[in-house]
Amino acid sequence: MTSSSAPAGAFSQWVSTADAVRATTKKLAKLETLGAYLPGLSDEDLGIAARLFAGTPFSRTDERVLSVGWRALSDVLLERSGRTEEDLARAYHTHADIGDGAADLLAGSVPSGPPLALRDVRDAFSAIAAARGNAAKRELLRALFARADAGAARYLAKVMSGETRIGLREGLLEDAIARAFGQDREAVGRAHMLSGDIGETAVRARNGALADAAIAHFAPIGMMLATPVLDLGEVEKRFPPPYVVEDKYDGVRTQVHKHGDGVELYSRTFDRVTDRFPEVLPALRAIPGDYVLDAEVLALRDGRAIPFKRFQRRLGRKVVSDELSAELPASLIVFDVIERDGEVLLDRPLSGRLAVLKTLPLTPPLLPARSRTIELRGDELVRALDEEFASARERGNEGLMVKDPRSPYRPGRRGMEWLKVKRALRTLDVVVTAVEWGHGKRRDVLSDYTFAVRDGDRHLNIGKAYSGLTDREIAEMTEHFKRHTVKDFGRARLVEHDTVIEVAFDAIHESARHTSGYAMRFPRIVRLRPDKPVSDIDTLDTVRSIAEGS
Ligand code: AMP
Repeated sequence: MTSSSAPAGAFSQWVSTADAVRATTKKLAKLETLGAYLPGLSDEDLGIAARLFAGTPFSRTDERVLSVGWRALSDVLLERSGRTEEDLARAYHTHADIGDGAADLLAGSVPSGPPLALRDVRDAFSAIAAARGNAAKRELLRALFARADAGAARYLAKVMSGETRIGLREGLLEDAIARAFGQDREAVGRAHMLSGDIGETAVRARNGALADAAIAHFAPIGMMLATPVLDLGEVEKRFPPPYVVEDKYDGVRTQVHKHGDGVELYSRTFDRVTDRFPEVLPALRAIPGDYVLDAEVLALRDGRAIPFKRFQRRLGRKVVSDELSAELPASLIVFDVIERDGEVLLDRPLSGRLAVLKTLPLTPPLLPARSRTIELRGDELVRALDEEFASARERGNEGLMVKDPRSPYRPGRRGMEWLKVKRALRTLDVVVTAVEWGHGKRRDVLSDYTFAVRDGDRHLNIGKAYSGLTDREIAEMTEHFKRHTVKDFGRARLVEHDTVIEVAFDAIHESARHTSGYAMRFPRIVRLRPDKPVSDIDTLDTVRSIAEGS
C-alpha cells in the first residue's frame, strides 16, 4: 500500500499504514488502508501488527508489562536526538502525547543499524519486560530507539506510554480484520472476546479458524449484566415463563478460571483478586478439570449473608489477616458456568449451563446459588415472586434475579434476559422504646429493639428489629439501655425514649401488631442517629403516606 520498497514485515510499512489511518477521520478510508496492508503479512507478522494497532505491547492474555517510566523514556529520547529538556517539554506541550513529542524531537535524525522489522519490535518489548532494573531497561531502550527514525519513534513511544491514539478503536480494528479476510464481523468480535488476543484473532480470521477460538484461561471475559425491574408485574412483560429465579447476593462479582492446578479470581474490572479471598481457593482446586465460573463472593454466617457494608471492610485489603478472614469469612456463591474442560458454553441456554453447574462438586465455602424454576403467569407469578423476594430478604440477600432459561451467556451485555429485582431502600428515623436480650452469641447483649414514630407528643410503635449495628455499638447501647431502663420485665425492658435509629424496610402496611396501626416489612437497623434529636424523628403522617404508596 505504500510506495516504499521495504518488505511487508518491515516496521516502516506498519508505521506508514498507521500514519495513513491516523490521517483520515473517514472510517471507510481507514478500513481500506488496513485492508491493503494486513493480507500481505505472514501469520507471525500479522499477529504482531494487529497487537500494535491495538496500541498494546502485549495481548490482554499476557500479563507481562514493560514498566518503562517517563524518565527512562525521555532520557533515551533526549540522548538519541541530542536535544534539550526544554525542547522535549515544548514538544510534549504541543502534542500532549509523548509519541508525537518523540517524533518532533527526532525529526530529520538518521537511524543506525539494520532497519527495524515487526519481529524486532516484538523481541525488544519482550526483552524490556523481562529486564530487571533501570539500567538494563535503559540499555534496551537505547538499542531500540537507535534503529528508529522519527516515524517509528512516534509509535514506539506511544505504545510504551500506553497512549496510542491513532484513531483506531478496538471495534474498528475488528471491522478491518473481518473485511481484510472476508470474515463475519460478529465471528471476529467473538473470537477476540474469547481469546483476549487481537493478534491471534487476526491470524484465525486469515485462516478461516475463528470458530475454533477457545476461552483463554486466565484472560477474563466480560460479565453478563442485568436490567432492573421495580415492579414484579414487569417481569412477565420481558419474557414468557418459565423463569429461573435466584437469590440476588449482595457481594462482589467474580469470574473464576481454573486450568490444571492454577486458579485465579477476577473482578468486574478484570483485575486479579485471587489473593484477596484465599479461603475459597482449596475448594476450587479440588474441583477436577478446567472451568470458568461466574460467581459472587460474600461473607456468610450461619447460612445468612453478612451485610455488604461489613464485608466491605476486608475488600480494600490486599493481604487479608487471619483475624479478618475469621470474622468475615468469604464464601463463593456460584451461579453460572461459562466453560468446562475446554468447551465454551456461552451459546448453551442457561438451563443447559445450570445442568453443567450441577455436575460440579461444590464444597463449602463454595455454594450453588439458590435457584428454582417458576412456571406461572399473571397474579400467580407476581405472588410467587413476592414470596421468593421476601424469603431472599430473610436470608439476608438483596432481592432476586429472574433469568430466562433459554438465554445464552452474553459477555459484557445488559439485556432483558437477566432481570434484577431489588426494592429501593427506604428508611425512617425512629426512637427506641423497648429492648430485648438477643439470642445465641448475642444472649448477653440488648440487641433487639422495638421502635416508634411520632404522632404529636406521642410515640407509637411501628416495628421491631434485631440490630444491624456493630458488636461494639451494641455493647455500648447495652450499657446505655441498662442505665436508662424504665421498667424491667426480665427478657424485655421499656427504656427511656432517647435513642434515635435509622431503620430500612421494604414496605409498610396496616397492621394491628403495633400501636401505630402499621407494621414494616423486613425492618433492618441501618445506623444510630445520635445527631438527630428525638423531636425530629419521622411522623405517623409520613408512615401513612408511605403505606398508601407502597
Ligand atoms: P447490580 O450490581 O445491582 O447491577 O446487580 C447485578 C449484580 O448482582 C451482578 O453483577 C452480580 O454481582 C450480582 N448477583 C448476585 N446474585 C446473582 C445471581 N444469582 N446471578 C447473577 N448476578 C448476581
